[in-house]
Amino acid sequence: MDNASYLYRHELQSRYRWLRFAPDIEREFMNFLRESQSVNFVACAWIGLALWLGIVGWDVLRYLQHIQGTAIEASYLHIIIPTRLVNLLALGALLISLPRLRHSAWMGTAGLATIAVYCVCAFICAYVYNRLDIRDGMAASILILMTVLFPCGMTLRQALPTSALLIAAYWLTAWQFLSPARWEAFRDTGSLLMVCLGMMAFGSYLRERGAREQFLLRRLLDWEAAHDPLTGLANRRSFQRHFDVCLAQAQRDGKTLMLAILDLDHFKLYNDHYGHKAGDRALQQVALVLGHYAARPMDMAIRLGGEEFGLLSYADEAPALTRRMQHLLAQLQGLHILHEYSPTASCLTASIGIAQAEPAATTDSLFLQADAQLYRAKEAGRNRVCGPDTSAEAGSTKPAEKSAVASA
Ligand code: GH3
Ligand code: MG
Ligand code: MG
Repeated sequence: MDNASYLYRHELQSRYRWLRFAPDIEREFMNFLRESQSVNFVACAWIGLALWLGIVGWDVLRYLQHIQGTAIEASYLHIIIPTRLVNLLALGALLISLPRLRHSAWMGTAGLATIAVYCVCAFICAYVYNRLDIRDGMAASILILMTVLFPCGMTLRQALPTSALLIAAYWLTAWQFLSPARWEAFRDTGSLLMVCLGMMAFGSYLRERGAREQFLLRRLLDWEAAHDPLTGLANRRSFQRHFDVCLAQAQRDGKTLMLAILDLDHFKLYNDHYGHKAGDRALQQVALVLGHYAARPMDMAIRLGGEEFGLLSYADEAPALTRRMQHLLAQLQGLHILHEYSPTASCLTASIGIAQAEPAATTDSLFLQADAQLYRAKEAGRNRVCGPDTSAEAGSTKPAEKSAVASA
């Protein structure tokens, strides 16, 4: 089975209580998370902007009341106005930079820094209002905190330092802006705030575990849709998709695209005599060998179905591929998979047909050509490679000695 799917399964079983995968999967998960978090951050920034407008409206209302002789004193406007402006700038900067930061590791930091600035600004204004005996400010700042923090979908490792920072900012700004006489009133709100932030951190833990599970399940599902479960090779569906990409790229680069079809010889007899399980094991062994022939990024080893496999080889030539396939047949014989009932040899062998993709080729036309070559190889006695440039005789590999394999 393919290594990646094994790793995903292993992580799923381990239940990731400590919210950490193996390094490679962790990196993949972080990229996956960044995608969803960037959407959340944009939503939070817009919510923050809407709240900001509401609060500024409230400021204006208070200021108008002041003019009529009640609330805001003009002397505090030099704190409130710059604070609200910093708040707006932070939100604007986040909205402008997010599309560029979307795939960068800095995205989380930028989002959280904006939230922190937003909340600290809310605290400062709340304290100023408190000095003026307007109590609604503190409740409003907790509302702001929760409204912008909860939907942004932080991981636990983001939520913990953010919570610690906000609690510190709450008390530090209180210490800076409040006279000791007013501290009493703040203790209750501060305790409420700490409970809220603790809940947020716990919520982050649960949400992150859920996100990790979703990620693993989605990756496994993608993997299963693209691979053959028995051998771990690509399946026909992913071959179709890859073939289209490779053909377009080959035309662009002026390269040739080759397909080799491998069919195990007398496999039905093998199954009938050694059983289906042994047949499955033999298919897995063949797939393992074939997989090594698709080491370059554009190459692909495929299980086409039953006991038929394919190898798509990019920028290859028929003579070179023929030689490599002959080497593969020799390797198969080297596995010594005993097949006493095969009329061809005493071990399991295969026949291979090779075709070159024309510029206007489709998967069907290429399969037809490769199948015709495979038919030639079967007709000429099996256990050989046939291609556009090989005679059936030239493509032959030396059959294994029955007695030698049987005694192995
Ligand atoms: P030839 O040399 O002409 O290719 O003959 P063959 O017997 O290999 O070909 P045939 O198409 O008659 O039989 C293919 C056999 O492959 C039939 C089936 O039992 C076996 N087979 C197909 N899929 C699987 C599988 O997933 N596992 C196992 N164990 N056997 C399979
Ligand atoms: Mg077949
Ligand atoms: Mg066969």
